[in-house]
This record gives sequence, C-alpha cells and structure tokens, in this order.
Amino acid sequence: MTGTRTKTVLAIGGHIGDMDLTAGPLLAEHVLQGHRGVLLALTPGERGHPRLSPEEYKLQKIAEGAEFAKDIGAEFRCFDDLSDGFLGTGDDVALRIADVIREVRPDVVIAHWRHSIHSDHAHAAQLTERARFLAGLPLERERPRHGVPTVLHAENWEDMEGFTPDRYAPVCTEAFDRWHAAISKQAFARGETYGFRYIDYYTALLTMRGCLSGRERASALSSGNGAKTVGPLW
Ligand SMILES: [Zn+2]
Repeated sequence: MTGTRTKTVLAIGGHIGDMDLTAGPLLAEHVLQGHRGVLLALTPGERGHPRLSPEEYKLQKIAEGAEFAKDIGAEFRCFDDLSDGFLGTGDDVALRIADVIREVRPDVVIAHWRHSIHSDHAHAAQLTERARFLAGLPLERERPRHGVPTVLHAENWEDMEGFTPDRYAPVCTEAFDRWHAAISKQAFARGETYGFRYIDYYTALLTMRGCLSGRERASALSSGNGAKTVGPLW
C-alpha cells in the first residue's frame, strides 16, 4: 500500500459464483494491495445443478463460496434463506442488504448490470441500487448510515444487454493466479453443471479487456454513465 487508508470493495451477486467469476479477479487484486474485499450472495444458487437436489447443492455452493473467498483473502456472506430463482425486489431484502452496507461500509460496491437474461441478476441490480439509497437514510437500524461513494457494474456474460464498459481495473498476474486457482474449486465454473466454460470465458475476457486498456489483464466495469477510465477503483 502507498500510504492511503484501506479501502473496502463489496461485491453483491444474485448467486454464489456470480461475483466470484466477474469481480473475483479485482477483489484478489485489491486484497493483494492491502485492501478489503467482501462477497455477498443474495441466494446460494442452489437450483443450478442438473443432478443434485437443491438441498444438497445449497450446502456445496455455500462451502464453495466460503472457500473461494478465503482463497482470495476476501470475506463471504450469503443470504442462505433466500431462494435461487425467486429473488424479488422488495424492501425486506433491500433493507437486509442495506444493513450489510452499514456494517461493511464499502468505498465501492460492485453490482450486477441492470439488464440480464436471469431475473435474479436484474433484481439483484435493482435491490443493490435501493439498498444503497436505504443505507444512506437516517433509519432506525442497528448501525449508522453509510453513503456508498461508487457503484460499478460487473461484466457478466448473462447481463450483457446494454452493458458498456467504461472502467478498466488492472489485474496483476499474482491476483489472476489466485483467482484462477480459487474459482477452479467451484463445480459450475469448471463446467460440471450445464457445461458453459466459465473459467475459459472469464480468463479470455481478462486478457481481452487487458488488451483494450494497455495492461496484461483487466476487468471491465460500467459506471452506467461515463467516459473510459483505466486505473484503480478510487
Ligand atoms: Zn447467477
């Protein structure tokens, strides 16, 4: 670190694995720089296995998510009582996310993009925007309010409608290696559930976004509003 205070990045995904794939490399990068990374999954993603029951796969997903976070040096949270495929947009869930924001006090929140082929992802994006608002309000909650300075949307192959990246966060080789080893422990990422080659896709994406930003590897994000920026998240 270069004398600046420790920053906190909170990545909020619809299912365990979403932010691990899309924000995991830059979380690994920021942890290596001495910052704090937190992953919050709004559901376990327990209906994503063609052979295991949701009850069985839920336990596996939670174990995989916790191990992934540990491996990259991040913290892991999951709303394991909410159900994959049925994530709504109500204030009950938004307030719970807002409480996590009040507790974690992130400098940067990474969210899904607002359009997706998966309703849980689109709803997670809406919930995150609402939670950011609620976290900043003077409400009768356990912890004081917190204003999130920056929300950025991660690049997820399921959320690409209208996604235009404008922030490029470099990912060094050590962070990439940590992420790659960690994500390789998740069965769905290895293609063992429905066969999509997630690790190949996101590895190639890191290289492609690196080419476009003049770095070896980079994660692209969207602020939803702006001119291209290459560099740290703050
Ligand atoms: Zn997902």
